[in-house]
Amino acid sequence: MRCKSCGYRLWNAVPGGCSECGAPWRFEDFRFVPGLVQFCCTTCGRAYMGTDADGLPLPRSFVCSGCGTELDLSRMRALPAPDITDDSAMVVEHAWSERKRFGRWRAFWTTVGQSLGNPRRLVTSLPQRPSLLGALWFAVLAVFIPTSIAVAPVFIVPFGMMPLRGSVMQTQQWLSVVGGFLLILVLSALTILLAAAISALFTHLLLRWTGGVKRSLRWTLCTSLYCLGPFVCSALPCCGVYLVLVTMTWSYISFIIATMELHKTGALRATFVVLAPPIGSNLIGGALAYWFIVGP
Ligand SMILES: [Zn+2]
Ligand SMILES: [Zn+2]
Repeated sequence: MRCKSCGYRLWNAVPGGCSECGAPWRFEDFRFVPGLVQFCCTTCGRAYMGTDADGLPLPRSFVCSGCGTELDLSRMRALPAPDITDDSAMVVEHAWSERKRFGRWRAFWTTVGQSLGNPRRLVTSLPQRPSLLGALWFAVLAVFIPTSIAVAPVFIVPFGMMPLRGSVMQTQQWLSVVGGFLLILVLSALTILLAAAISALFTHLLLRWTGGVKRSLRWTLCTSLYCLGPFVCSALPCCGVYLVLVTMTWSYISFIIATMELHKTGALRATFVVLAPPIGSNLIGGALAYWFIVGP
């Protein structure tokens, strides 16, 4: 456990300010491997194992059975259990959430890699309180950049064919090309982001109705946004735009595997709660379109 600002070791210290740089910290900022970290009473030293999903003791406040002191997580010290090294007591950090330390470029591609090939790791490494804004920012980069590269040729090709008056392009032509490009870009990226968020909302509701959730809506939303990583494949020159179906399927499979890990559920239930919202909305949309065109 190290200070997020300066890297100073925080083991055996009481939460508050880092003694090296003064940055505030609490145990809730970290994720410990359940059962590998002990939290000790500051009065008598009696140790309590951190056993919940984040490796913290449950309940958070209680009376010490050694000395009778009222204990609270914010007034305890943490140490790795005997024979456990500092590093193995901590859950591997989520690269994108720690992008300032990892470096943004590396953190982005590490997270894309997990989204493509290891969604379980993606979920288990998320911090205790994952940032929705951070997840959204990742999704915007993963969707916007490749979409713009994929959409660009569609506008660059007619660009060269436009009749030019003299050698200078008319302002109006410029505006229509750039405007059309931006409009398509923003619309397609917004559609993907909105669809992912709404779909995740329904996934969470379905989970609640079919036996309960293990994590809050924030986790489901963040996970669904991080599972948009496969969309970077649309940045592949020329063929990327035709891969949309593959990247979409890949992204759904990632989200199913991540949901299994996140809410500790079986493959069948995870597949149902992830696929039912998009399939359902398509069916309803199709039925409505049919009703409008053909009539009841
Ligand atoms: Zn520090
Ligand atoms: Zn005590």
